[in-house]
Amino acid sequence: MKTTSLRALVAASLLSLGPSLWAAPIASTPNLAKAPPPSETPAAATPTPLSKPAEAAPAGPAVLEAAPGVWLTQFTGMTAVWADLGDGIVLIDTGGSAKDAKALKSFVSLTAKDKPIKWLVLTHLHGHVNSAEGLLDFLSPETTVYVHSRVSEAFKNAVVMMAREVPPTIAVSGTMEIKGKKRSLELTALSSPAHSNHDIFALLPDISLAVTGDLLTPGSCPDLTDPSADLVGVLAALDILEKKNVKGIVGSSGGSSDPAAEIDVTRGYLRRLLKLLFENKQENTPAAKVASIIRLDPLQGYCPTAMDSRNAISLYERMGPDGRLTPGNAARPKAQNE
Ligand SMILES: [Zn+2]
Repeated sequence: MKTTSLRALVAASLLSLGPSLWAAPIASTPNLAKAPPPSETPAAATPTPLSKPAEAAPAGPAVLEAAPGVWLTQFTGMTAVWADLGDGIVLIDTGGSAKDAKALKSFVSLTAKDKPIKWLVLTHLHGHVNSAEGLLDFLSPETTVYVHSRVSEAFKNAVVMMAREVPPTIAVSGTMEIKGKKRSLELTALSSPAHSNHDIFALLPDISLAVTGDLLTPGSCPDLTDPSADLVGVLAALDILEKKNVKGIVGSSGGSSDPAAEIDVTRGYLRRLLKLLFENKQENTPAAKVASIIRLDPLQGYCPTAMDSRNAISLYERMGPDGRLTPGNAARPKAQNE
């Protein structure tokens, strides 16, 4: 994950977003005060900045209203999105710490005017998007949790281990819909490992917005260091996403109103890595040398060299001579049918 400051991340997201989808940013924290309205002039292609210059801006994360009734905020390493479906709020991911979760809860409550969080979608169970402590704060008998079927039993067991009541839980496989009275959310659970072995991405069809978690991270290369991460799986996920033909994407690193370009650049990165790793595997190149090859070919801006190397080595060590990846030894949540 990028370690850029939160303010820079949010600002970068805003600059990369088109005005149509992102016309009404809200400055926030702690009071969610309304930012000045964006300029009406058609020439103003850049959305109104979320915050005033740093010295005048309040500290803390910020909330954007991406479309009427759809909001997002960024914490380090993740973006949380929530939407009013008419008869309740759906929240996608809960934050990487108890502190972030607490802030997120107050943002949801303020923006959604205390409508209940009726549905909670977990794109995956990495701590940087859903920390255990933070997630617990959102569990309630009134909130139905949607989690990939491959880890739904592990999720419920973990809740029991933490001495909490297991909430209503839906094991997501394939594609399904959460239907609200005014709007729906489509979920796609990937059948193969990609960023993790239990990725879900979400789609708000009425505003043509995909929430991709860590599968597609606008402006930066995906993190492939999970012991079950798979390059081919991410490529397959991009194919599925491409067919959805969305107009906007929100990933853990921010948002983009040019999904086709983001998909292209991510594909290019994955193919480069796949080719480089496979060719070196054929020649039995030591992992240390692969790392130095990566360092000689820096991807300015898109993928910090340290992260590029981490991705490469993590995958290379699990790659067989045929180019296939075997899952690593770190705890792999058990599939329901395993
Ligand atoms: Zn992740």
